[in-house]
Amino acid sequence: MGVHWILICHGFVTLLVVVSFLCGQWPIFQGTLIERIHYFLTFGAYDYILRFVGAVFGSKCTKAVLSVEYYCCDRPNPVLQIIYLVIISLTYYFIAKSSFAYIPGYYLSEIHRYTSLLAVAVGILLFLLTCFSDPGTVKAENVSQYLSAYPYDNIIYTEKECSTCKIPKPARSKHCSICDRCVARFDHHCGWMNNCIGERNTRYFLAFLFWHFLLCLYGTVTIGLVLAGRLKELRVVYILTVYYGIENSFLSLAPHVVQWLLGSYNTQILLLVFLAIVGMLLAGFFGYHAKLCLCNTTTNETFKWQDYMNWQKKLNEAKVSAATLRASISGIVGDERKPSLSKWKTFFRRSPLEDDVKAVKNNVYDKGFIQNIQEVIFPFSTRRSFTRAKSKSG
Ligand SMILES: [Zn+2]
Ligand SMILES: [Zn+2]
Repeated sequence: MGVHWILICHGFVTLLVVVSFLCGQWPIFQGTLIERIHYFLTFGAYDYILRFVGAVFGSKCTKAVLSVEYYCCDRPNPVLQIIYLVIISLTYYFIAKSSFAYIPGYYLSEIHRYTSLLAVAVGILLFLLTCFSDPGTVKAENVSQYLSAYPYDNIIYTEKECSTCKIPKPARSKHCSICDRCVARFDHHCGWMNNCIGERNTRYFLAFLFWHFLLCLYGTVTIGLVLAGRLKELRVVYILTVYYGIENSFLSLAPHVVQWLLGSYNTQILLLVFLAIVGMLLAGFFGYHAKLCLCNTTTNETFKWQDYMNWQKKLNEAKVSAATLRASISGIVGDERKPSLSKWKTFFRRSPLEDDVKAVKNNVYDKGFIQNIQEVIFPFSTRRSFTRAKSKSG
């Protein structure tokens, strides 16, 4: 049984590292071990490596490492695109190699040999579509249309010019320093896609996430059914109960069945766990982006709103504290017998400042679920009204 504990620990550590690396910065993990592991993996470890390289090999090597970092993180490059293609092809290869021998099987028909290939092909197609589609580049030729399609809300977006492109910056756009261009309805620069996610390709990006979640689910269920089929075909439960005299109950059979599966089908188990973990992460990521689309917000705007809300809260706090100070001064000077709050009320008030401090998020781009979804599926710049705006303005 010792080997199983090692496997379980290995699985747990892998899960912890993967979740920390990919989701450690999420607000729900604030102040937890996951956030600290995320910090170590993304900044801390790299910092140690740099110092180590500097101390052992000298400053020339540190410079070389920094230039590699610059190429990989601050310049467009296909490193993560290649990694994605390697991961998906290797996963499919190992699944085909380990499990296709059992298809058709007890629970699966032959069609899954072909549908699985088709599903992977669609996944790669969506990947290529997101990678090589125009995210909605703002240029001198189309800036006037973008300006009328995305008016300034004068809250988080005010009239501005891009200092690099030297053209007006439409609301919701951002200059991507990696791609060196302004992108309309900018969401984020995606390293995996080596492309910005913006007005015109958010739809492909969402489809990519959702499809890959379905792919992982399909893989997990199919491998599960392959293993269940083997269990049935080889009459494992029958052998265990009749020949080994094990009690025919789930609790007493489960450890033996798991042991048998780990011994005979470890590749499939590994693939199943991998697909299940990646599938869960993709579901979370897709859910996050779908929620943003339903509220017509972008990842870029969530940071802007956060800053705005913090600023507004501080401003309100300052206003309230000034008012409280003024009231207390006038209270001392004027009538001291004015009606005061009951003792209970004063007791339950958390802080005299918190009562009146409210920050309001007023997203003018949120036009209701249906219109918000339409805006993602049929971006403004693909509509006829957008080109018509050009002929009117030009
Ligand atoms: Zn720009
Ligand atoms: Zn970019």
